[in-house]
Amino acid sequence: MRRCVDLVKLTAVFAAAAFGCVFAAGGLARPTTATSRSQPATYPSEQLIGASDASAKAMLARLDGSFGAVVRPPFVVIGNMPARRVEAMASGSVVRPAKAMWHSYFRKKPTHVITILLFRDAKTYKHWAKKLFNNADPPYFGYYRPRDRTMVMNIATGTGTLVHELTHALIVYDFPAVPLWFNEGLASLHEGCRVLPDRIVGVVNWRLPALQKAVRGKALRPLRELITRDDFYGRQRGLNYAQARYFVMYMQKRGLLRKFYKRFRDNHRGPDAAVKAVEHVFGAKLERIESDYLKWVMTLRWSAR
Ligand SMILES: [Zn+2]
Repeated sequence: MRRCVDLVKLTAVFAAAAFGCVFAAGGLARPTTATSRSQPATYPSEQLIGASDASAKAMLARLDGSFGAVVRPPFVVIGNMPARRVEAMASGSVVRPAKAMWHSYFRKKPTHVITILLFRDAKTYKHWAKKLFNNADPPYFGYYRPRDRTMVMNIATGTGTLVHELTHALIVYDFPAVPLWFNEGLASLHEGCRVLPDRIVGVVNWRLPALQKAVRGKALRPLRELITRDDFYGRQRGLNYAQARYFVMYMQKRGLLRKFYKRFRDNHRGPDAAVKAVEHVFGAKLERIESDYLKWVMTLRWSAR
């Protein structure tokens, strides 16, 4: 069992700003070529294996001698740390969580190379983010670039953000039109988790206190609003992450998350699609579900260690 956690303790407000979620409101960057309804008989394909090798070589040529690559198609993992550590990160924090997500949720796998750059500290992370991508002010933990399917990670902060961004990179192949609240809710659930061979189990993390404070202060928006409006990155962005994360975790707790995902993916059209899918899998009205959800939230405990 592996744990994926953020090592740094942050307030929800700061962390929301620090996260590298760069999707435009209303949709995701989609794969540039159409994916077939079913995967090839063998995965990864010869073409994807070749493309992964070529991509690793091309990226290493842009870096200095301190970097090494581990190729696990569709993933190319490159880091400026001992080879053993890059290998361990590729296996434990990329391939293993990806397999668990494919097993639990995503029937379609990437048809393109996904590149993961792991920088051992903030100094080299910032240096290379500027040099490779002309990004002079990268988010604290790391970020994902949908346009070239590249994760740029300050791995000194832990592996939680890596699994968060990995979720975004994988879900788009299976559910291209996934709404932001669920995309961010599931990705945020995976920030703090236990990775088992067949599933990822999200655990309580640092986003809880802000959510509980909002519940106590009656400042939380209605769940119906969160899952039907297209304003996730708006005014209450930090709180939206917390509300979505813990609602997804509540579905996990009730044993309904996989069922919800499949139902929602296959019936996502229309403004009330999320409400209908939630009510279908719970067998209850949304406001009743929300009431139980919020009671459960208030029973959770988290302490910064
Ligand atoms: Zn995100």
